[in-house]
Formats: sequence, structure tokens, C-alpha cells
Amino acid sequence: MSSDQSSVSSGSASDDAASQAESARATARKQLERAATELDLDRNAVERLRHPAKIQEVNVPVERDDGSVDVFTGYRAQHDSVRGPYKGGLRYSPHVTKEECVGLSMWMTWKCALMDLPFGGAKGGVRVNPKELSTDENERLTRRFAHELRNVIGPMQDIPAPDMGTDSQTMAWIMDAYSMENGETEPGVVTGKPEVIGGSPGRAAAPGRSVAIITREALDHYDQSLDSASIAIQGFGSVGGHAARLLDEWGASIVAISDVNGAVFDPSGLPVHEIPLHEDEPEAVAGFDGPTVSELSNEELLELDVDVVIPAAIGNVLTERNAGEVQADLIVEGANGPTTSVADGIFREREIPVIPDILANAGGVTVSYFEWLQDINRRSWSHERVNDELETEMLGAWDHVRSEVEERDVSWRTGAYVVALSRVAEAHRHRGLWP
Ligand code: NAD
Repeated sequence: MSSDQSSVSSGSASDDAASQAESARATARKQLERAATELDLDRNAVERLRHPAKIQEVNVPVERDDGSVDVFTGYRAQHDSVRGPYKGGLRYSPHVTKEECVGLSMWMTWKCALMDLPFGGAKGGVRVNPKELSTDENERLTRRFAHELRNVIGPMQDIPAPDMGTDSQTMAWIMDAYSMENGETEPGVVTGKPEVIGGSPGRAAAPGRSVAIITREALDHYDQSLDSASIAIQGFGSVGGHAARLLDEWGASIVAISDVNGAVFDPSGLPVHEIPLHEDEPEAVAGFDGPTVSELSNEELLELDVDVVIPAAIGNVLTERNAGEVQADLIVEGANGPTTSVADGIFREREIPVIPDILANAGGVTVSYFEWLQDINRRSWSHERVNDELETEMLGAWDHVRSEVEERDVSWRTGAYVVALSRVAEAHRHRGLWP
């Protein structure tokens, strides 16, 4: 049996962060077991997939603006590359841990396979609060982190992307650091870059767009029209904000949204185009006022009596503590891992469908794939082409998952895992175990 502890050094984490992180990996493993049982998968294949291939752990010294030096711990967990280079985001957050990166890297393997992209799964990050860094400190941290990861990332090896606390500027610094050290411009080493250096039109909005597309399809599946749907969305960033605006444009009523400081609720629908997205003005949601707007906590938002609730901020927000209180008829996971496995079981018993993250927010990695294709071909696509091809890919994945759900009478999560896992397991079977 391979070891989970394959990193080269250790770092300390707060108890809170550690237990959250264990939950990410534990949740990912339980989901794997459930789908493997459904598929009657060979135990040897499951054993390989329970473990990441490699975890890089690095300590990143950064000179602060006052001349002092702080050292931050960073990780890159690479789960599986049987179908292609590793792919996944980089997070800057005080809660980043090795265990969390492992769980998130497993989800990336399934997400890429579910979308039939030629990538495997990875995730990484630095345990730091980016809000406490100046722009110059952030740039120094990012360039040094890129240097520390230079032997494990690359356009054909492992391709990072933005995630919580990182953005297109972070990716631009990584691309520059990698390119300067390699002696040639390598736009394909990261995705989610600014367009002028090889980023794709539509990338920033893509995960929210896919959440909106899947919400529309799910409502249609359950014979509910989008026009009459009330929706509550936790998080107003790249995922939640773009999903809210698109669903609003398509006729739904977005009755509640939130940021880290709290939620706002308007039963007649919020003007989501007037409220700044996280990328334009962080934390502009809580405090937004209007004649019929009231304030709620993030916890209360999840328990509103709405047609759809979309957790699109952080992981582990739907747990055994609140799963019995959720009143929505449908849950669409915008964030990665918002539902613990116990909560998932409660929703199954209560017959509340949960459309899983690896399907709903997969637009992000799908447009990252389009960006990578544009980079290696040195040819850019129009915004219209990106959105059209994303729509096609999302509908294709939705149809595959829906067929499994109907044929096997399983949950949406298990249906999605069945599609993904059968592709990954089949690839391993054909390639075999080396040497
Ligand atoms: P973001 O940084 O753009 O926005 C996050 C939003 O959540 C902000 O509105 C922030 O105020 C809010 N938030 C932060 N902490 C919160 C808390 N404790 N409670 C409630 N709200 C909180 O992040 P994002 O890119 O939209 O990512 C959100 C989730 O979606 C993460 O789980 C991420 O892994 C996942 N995701 C992101 C992408 C992507 O490409 N950006 C793709 C797929 C999945």
C-alpha cells in the first residue's frame, strides 16, 4: 500500500483547518468508495485512486515591505495523471492544508474525466491570508512559490489555475517566473491568465456559467420553469456572482446572495447586476440596501424556503447540523465540496436532489482546457466560440450523468462519479501498472 505521507517536510495547521481538511479528503474517499461499489470496480484500481501520486510541500520565504522575512508553507498535490497532465487550482488562504489539497486534487481527477478532458487532477495553495499582503509582497510570494514548484509544473506536466484568493494576475506572475527560468515564453503553464498574454475570453465567468447551465437543465428535468424559480446563492465571486447574473438574465429570481460578511435577502428578487462582483469590489454584498432588502447570516441563507440553493463560496457548509433544516427543493453545488457525506445521506433520505460540484462548476476547468488549446496552438478563439463550446460540453456531460442516474436509480453525485470513475479506471486498465 502506498503512503499518504509522501511530502518532504511537515507544516503546522490550526485544529480547525486540520479537521476541515481531513473532511475534504475523507469526503472524497467516501464518494470514491460509493461509486466504486456501484461500478463493482476492481479493488486494486480503487486502492490506487485512494492515494495521490505525489505531494510537493515547500516553504516560501518572502521579504515583507518593512524588510522582515516571513516563511509561508505551500503545497501541490497531484492525484492522478493517467488521462493527461495534472490540472487544478492554486489557493491562497489561511486554511490551506496538505489534506485539503489532496481531497481537492481527487475531485479534479473526477471533474476532468467527467468532462472528458485530457487532464488528471491536482490542487495546491499557500497557507497565507492574501488580504494581509501588499501587492508587492503577493508578487514576491507568487514568484518564489512558482520557482519552488518549477520541477513539478509545466504545460505537459501540471497546469495550475486560479482558485480562492488567487486571480489572473497571480497566474500572470507564475507564467512569467516559469517562462523566465525556462528561457522561452510558455503561456500553457497556467490557465486563467489575462487575455493579452494568452488567457481565454470567458474564462473568469465560466464556472458560474456552467453552474447556471446545469441549474437550468436540472430545473427542466424536474419540470420547473426557470422563470418561476427562486434561487439563493452563497458567495458572490467568480462562481456565485456570475451564476447569479446569468440566471437572473434567463428569468430566475435571485432572492438571496452573500459574501464572507453575511447575506442579503429580497423576496421580490435582488438587482444582482447592480451589486459589484467579488473580483470588482470584494465584500460589497453584505450591507447592500433596498426598500425590501433584509439582512441574513450565511447559515440562514442556506435554510431559506426557495426552489434552489447554490452554495458557491467554501467547502463543508452543508453538514449534519443543518441538512435537516434545508428547505430548498434542489441543491446545485457551485463551490467544491460544500456538502459533507453525512449531509449528503440526509439529503438522499429527504429526497432533495444534490447536483454535484464535479458537474456543476466544471465550466471553469473546461474553459481552462480551451485556454490551454489556444496557448499551445498560438491561436485565440472568439468569446462566442468559447461560450458555444462550453454549452455543448456541459450539455453532453449532463446527458451522460442523467442517463446513469435514470438507468441505475442512483443520486446525481453517484451518477457523475460513475461516468468519471469508469473513464479513469478504464484508462488505468489499458495502461497497466508500471514498471
Ligand atoms: P472568489 O474568491 O471569487 O469568491 C468567493 C466568494 O465567497 C466571495 O463573495 C467571498 O466573500 C465569499 N466567501 C468567502 N468566504 C466565505 C465564507 N466563509 N462564508 C460565506 N462566503 C464566503 O472564489 P470563487 O472562485 O468564486 O470560488 C468559490 C468556490 O468555487 C470555491 O470552493 C472554489 O474552489 C470553487 N470553484 C472555483 C472555480 C474557479 O475557477 N474560480 C472553479 C470551480 C470551483
